[in-house]
Amino acid sequence: MAKDTLSIDETRDMMVAVAKAIIEAEPILTDADRALGDGDHGVGMERGMNAVLEAIEGEEFPNVGKVFMSVGMAMMSSMGGASGAVFGTLFRAGGKAIKDSGTLGGAEAATFFKEGTDNVMSRGGAKPGDKTMVDALMPAAERGAEVADQPVSEALAAIAEAAAAGRDASEAMIATMGRAKTLGEKSIGKPDAGAVSVAIIAKTMADFAAA
Ligand code: ADP
Ligand code: MG
Repeated sequence: MAKDTLSIDETRDMMVAVAKAIIEAEPILTDADRALGDGDHGVGMERGMNAVLEAIEGEEFPNVGKVFMSVGMAMMSSMGGASGAVFGTLFRAGGKAIKDSGTLGGAEAATFFKEGTDNVMSRGGAKPGDKTMVDALMPAAERGAEVADQPVSEALAAIAEAAAAGRDASEAMIATMGRAKTLGEKSIGKPDAGAVSVAIIAKTMADFAAA
C-alpha cells in the first residue's frame, strides 16, 4: 500500500534498503567512475553504506531527521574523499532541516532534498551543468517543491523520476569539476558517477514508500 507518511522506524528501514541497494550497485558505480574518474566511487559508497548499516540497523531514533543525519555522519567518517564530504553533507544537512518531524511526508521529503542540495552546492562549489551529483540533485529538489503537498509515496516517485532524468542529462555534459574535468569533451557520453548514486538512492526511497 502506497503511504501518506513514513514513521521514524519506516524511514530507518527505508535507509537500510537504500544502503543495501547501493552496496549491490557497487559494480555499476565502479564502472561509471572508471569511465570518467579514478574508479573508486563504487568501493567508497559500498564502504560508506556498510558503515550506515552498522549505525542505523535496528536502532531507535527520536525523529526522522536524525535517521538521515546518522546516515550522513556514517558516510562522512567512513568514506573520506570528495564523495564522503558531499554525500555526508547531503544527508546531514537534509536531515537537520527536518529534525523536528516525527513522520516523513511529501513536505519533509521535499525539504530534505532542497536543503541537502543547497548545502552540497554551497560547500562543494558545484553548479548545475558541472557534471556532478548536483545534476541529479537539483532537478530532484525542484520537483520536490512541486509535489510537497502529496503523499510521501507520490512525492518520492516524482523526485526519483526527476533524479533519473538528471542523471541521464549528465551524459551530455562536459565535466568542469573534480577529476573528470581534465577529460574535457571526452567526458561527454557517460553519466556522472555521483549522479548515478543519487538516482539509485531516490529510486530505492520511492520503491520503499510505494511498497
Ligand atoms: P573522488 O572524486 O574523491 O574520487 P568519488 O569517486 O567517490 O570521489 O566520487 C566522485 C563523485 O563525487 C563525482 O562523480 C561527483 O558526483 C561527486 N563530487 C565530487 N566533488 C563534488 C563537488 N565538489 N560537488 C558535488 N559533487 C561532487
Ligand atoms: Mg573517484
